[in-house]
Amino acid sequence: MTVPALNELQTKAQSFEINNETKGARNVLEWAYSHYDSDKIVYASSFGAEAIVLIDLIYQVNPYAHIVFLDTGLHFPETYEVIDKIEARFPTLQIERKQPALTLDEQADQHGTALWKREPNSCCNIRKVIPLRETLSAKEAWISGLRREQSPTRAATEFLNEDTKFNNVKICPLIHWTWDEVWEYIRERDLPYNTLHDHGYPSIGCFPCTQAVLEDGDSRAGRWTGTGKTECGLHTR
Ligand code: SF4
Repeated sequence: MTVPALNELQTKAQSFEINNETKGARNVLEWAYSHYDSDKIVYASSFGAEAIVLIDLIYQVNPYAHIVFLDTGLHFPETYEVIDKIEARFPTLQIERKQPALTLDEQADQHGTALWKREPNSCCNIRKVIPLRETLSAKEAWISGLRREQSPTRAATEFLNEDTKFNNVKICPLIHWTWDEVWEYIRERDLPYNTLHDHGYPSIGCFPCTQAVLEDGDSRAGRWTGTGKTECGLHTR
């Protein structure tokens, strides 16, 4: 498919009103689900705190939306628990648990054990990037929960982004939300969430690459600590 030109996306993105209750997120989602056919748009969800907000908003706009979870086989039990709770709370959503082509044993046979320790980029590529690429090959747009304040690498994210990596449009409805606002929304709506957030984990990925952080750590601290890696590769070119 042909991805719309960057200036076209920027013009549309600037038209969304942000001085409202959801800081533009609801408007962006309403546009997205009316602009794209339902089978051409997917939300790639980590089921972290931002995801809970997005899922609640998406459900209000399209209760049958397709959501994909990249199931690396290395997630915390708490992550699978919150997915179960979300499925019970929002039963019409189409939640897909997408697995990589290689099982963990096959990956160990072909690349050695604990690839995440030696070559985390290769591990993320096998277990996250390639599976998402497969999903997005049949889509025109994907939704992500990126927020600008999460990290310097995310500070320039727009509502609508040209994603040349996946030849898609990446839609980020929560760019203007703060961490506090995410939690205010979760509590006000009494939504289920990953209980690891209560134990010092602001950002939750695979267990070998995620640690609890100190109170003043930024929201991406705790991911791939000490490796210099800050992104799994889904949001980098
Ligand atoms: Fe592998 Fe760690 Fe990436 Fe998960 S986050 S896919 S364990 S490197």
